[in-house]
Amino acid sequence: MIHQLVYYSRNTVPGGDRAMLTNMREILTVSQRNNSRDGVTGFLIFDKTWFVQILEGERVRVTGTYDRIARDPRHIGAAVIDVRDVPARLFPNWTMGGAMRTPEVQEVYLQHGFGGPLDPVRLKSGQIVDLALDLQAFEASRRQGQRLAG
Ligand code: FAD
Repeated sequence: MIHQLVYYSRNTVPGGDRAMLTNMREILTVSQRNNSRDGVTGFLIFDKTWFVQILEGERVRVTGTYDRIARDPRHIGAAVIDVRDVPARLFPNWTMGGAMRTPEVQEVYLQHGFGGPLDPVRLKSGQIVDLALDLQAFEASRRQGQRLAG
């Protein structure tokens, strides 16, 4: 079985979109390095206010990764929404994928009924996982389009 953990936290990274993207690139680079070492996969959804992340892998690795993340000063108030064992990974190809809420992905949010700001405090883990899967598919097709255009 694969252990899956879903949490949210408040983004404390100061600055506008550009600063946030720079920070996120840093976070995703380190995450991809560590997670590929630890066999952890998942997805990180973020906007100026929130992070919502899904981590999956061996229980001990997922717990260790979450404990490290929760101590990171770039966010506060990390709260676990759900932990469960699932038969297979949902994000097998992403050592950590990430999607910032931009106008480009707004359509995906709308399809999930999120017209306004995301409020993870009120969300169920299933809603987050479904949104992340569609954001992942959107990102994958965007990358494929870029490859074909290049
Ligand atoms: P290093 O990258 O060498 O960092 C050493 C220390 O410096 C760590 O304590 C680190 O937290 C701190 N640090 C590094 N850069 C900054 C900075 N710009 N501002 C403040 N402190 C900093 N890590 C993962 O391994 N996997 C994940 O999936 C993952 N997801 C994350 C999601 C979010 C929302 C956030 C905020 C962080 C995430 N991280 C993730 C990063 C994690 O919190 C640790 O920073 C990282 O795992 C530490 O990696 P390292 O041991 O190689 O240390």
